[in-house]
Amino acid sequence: MLRFRTGLRHATLALACVTLRAGWCAAAPAAADSPIEPGFDYHSYANVDQFRVTHIEMDLQVDLDNKVIDGVVALELKRLDPRATQVVLDTKGLTINDVSQKATDVLGATAKSQTVWVSRPFHMDKPDPILGSALVIDLPPSHKAVESIKIEYLTVPTAAALQWLTPKQTAGRHKGFLYTQSEPIGARSWIPLQDTPQVRATYTATIHTDRGLRAVMSAENDPKHKANGEYSFVMPQPIPSYLIALAVGDIEFKETGPRTGVYAEKSMVGAAAKEFADTESMVATGEKLFGPYRWGRYDILVLPPSFPVGGMENPRLSFITPTVIAGDKSLVSVIAHELAHSWSGNLVTNATWRDVWLNEGFTVFLESRITAAVYGEQRESMEAVLGLQALRENLGKLEPKDQVLAIDLRDRDPDLAFSEVPYQKGRLFLRFLESKFGRERFDAFLHAYFDHFAFKSITTEQFNEFLQTNLLDRFPGIVTRDQVLTWEHAPGIPADAVLPTSSAFEPVDQARAAWLAGTLAAKKLGLDWVTQQWLYFLNNLPAALQPKQLAELDDARGLTRSQNAEIEQSWLKIAIRNNYQPSYPRLEEYLKSIGRRKLIVPLYAELMKTPSGTAFAKRVYAKARPGYHPDTVAALDPMVDPDAADAADTPLR
Ligand SMILES: [Zn+2]
Repeated sequence: MLRFRTGLRHATLALACVTLRAGWCAAAPAAADSPIEPGFDYHSYANVDQFRVTHIEMDLQVDLDNKVIDGVVALELKRLDPRATQVVLDTKGLTINDVSQKATDVLGATAKSQTVWVSRPFHMDKPDPILGSALVIDLPPSHKAVESIKIEYLTVPTAAALQWLTPKQTAGRHKGFLYTQSEPIGARSWIPLQDTPQVRATYTATIHTDRGLRAVMSAENDPKHKANGEYSFVMPQPIPSYLIALAVGDIEFKETGPRTGVYAEKSMVGAAAKEFADTESMVATGEKLFGPYRWGRYDILVLPPSFPVGGMENPRLSFITPTVIAGDKSLVSVIAHELAHSWSGNLVTNATWRDVWLNEGFTVFLESRITAAVYGEQRESMEAVLGLQALRENLGKLEPKDQVLAIDLRDRDPDLAFSEVPYQKGRLFLRFLESKFGRERFDAFLHAYFDHFAFKSITTEQFNEFLQTNLLDRFPGIVTRDQVLTWEHAPGIPADAVLPTSSAFEPVDQARAAWLAGTLAAKKLGLDWVTQQWLYFLNNLPAALQPKQLAELDDARGLTRSQNAEIEQSWLKIAIRNNYQPSYPRLEEYLKSIGRRKLIVPLYAELMKTPSGTAFAKRVYAKARPGYHPDTVAALDPMVDPDAADAADTPLR
């Protein structure tokens, strides 16, 4: 995976490093063999020091019957090195049919200019299981500032970032569905490009698909466009490749405000618009707190239940799991989160996956501010406590080297970066800074940070540099550089963390103790509790409960039948732990109908702890696996069915 780490590239990075304030560079942890190079993307083959993609033009034929995208992509590249004779792109599982270079031909007497494309030699390097194959294109050396190349290609049905759903796997059940999930390095499985977050490009796209289906993208969408099978998109702001997103299906639109709306399948669109009715006020709150919203509209696409993550912050059009539709807006902090990425992540982006905490830690912090402003401080404090509990549980399972913010991912799947650490520990770090410098100063710092790095991709070291100048030096004697480095590079939760508490959980603790002691009946429990209080109640019950207690709780509160996907998941975990059979039919249905990793992976993990649970898990998994997204399958195969990973239908990752 380091084949393209040329001497030239080493030299450039070393130079970039010494230009930073002395000390921040040295902060990077040294691996056993060699020190990590901040800013070097170990998960891309692209020779970004010689060429940089600035614009992408796609023409894609989406074939739902054969689960294939037949694509032509034209890349506009800024040439940084006139001597360079090769462009190296990232691909995974793509069949490349032709590569050509743009040349301008003057046509004889008419003297009319016409664009012509000249075929270029290319080859694919041996594939790496994580990174895919480098596509190496030969180009003559040139002093031109811009080069354009065109690639004709086909995807495979098992492409890592694509999930193809049969009509039966959708809510409407009569038309197929396709959606993409490109983060972190899936874009290369459906577009040949420089698949690294440090390269930003604008894009245009023409999508051809069946009449009656609608295509939507992370770009300007036109909800009034007829569903005639031909769609055009423009993304005028430069974005990293992992934010290029596409969905095709029987999708309808409903407005929720002047610049917000919801796309979903017909049967979902009404409920989704009701659930996400506060989106417009969330955008207004975000602008008030963090500066202008720079992406035009903010729409939400609700996906079928197999969507593997809670939400994906594709710019202008967040992709969201339907499992956050609870009927009472109690789980919409996911929307606040994806919207917050419009500042942290989409506007200011991590330069490599080592720096992903800059995306996620900032976003959880911003999410909490939006939640507090729209739904009140109490809701925010409850979510912060639940987040801390999730972090602590996760830290218990992670090796020390994976408990740090600036994680070393060399030779590893960058998907491993997405533990609770960048999210919740990242949030705690920013909360620590806010508490030290005060909200007013810290808000001003955030504003300046988003302005300064707008539409740029940055490293942990560049953040540190900005932090030093704009906060640590400006208000000296409050936080030291060593404290910052401890947060970023030491395992666990630093001793100076400001840990959240919530008074709303005090009555829950009392009620739980009383119920466990037999002095409070289950039917009197939590008559006025909100979702977060129920989650706190369930997540903090002792591991072992009596069958009688489980039955009493279930009968009184109807937990097995809960329509709230998070409460249901907490309950099912308890049911598995205690082999509470009345919940098992619902457990099977849950595992077969939902593909969100955060919800189902812990349930399978709990099942796999006992022989009878293992048998149940294997039986259900065999039925559910074909409906899961490749990312979910990749997380579950090693745990539940290692043999399945060798089967021919294994999705590429
Ligand atoms: Zn996020």
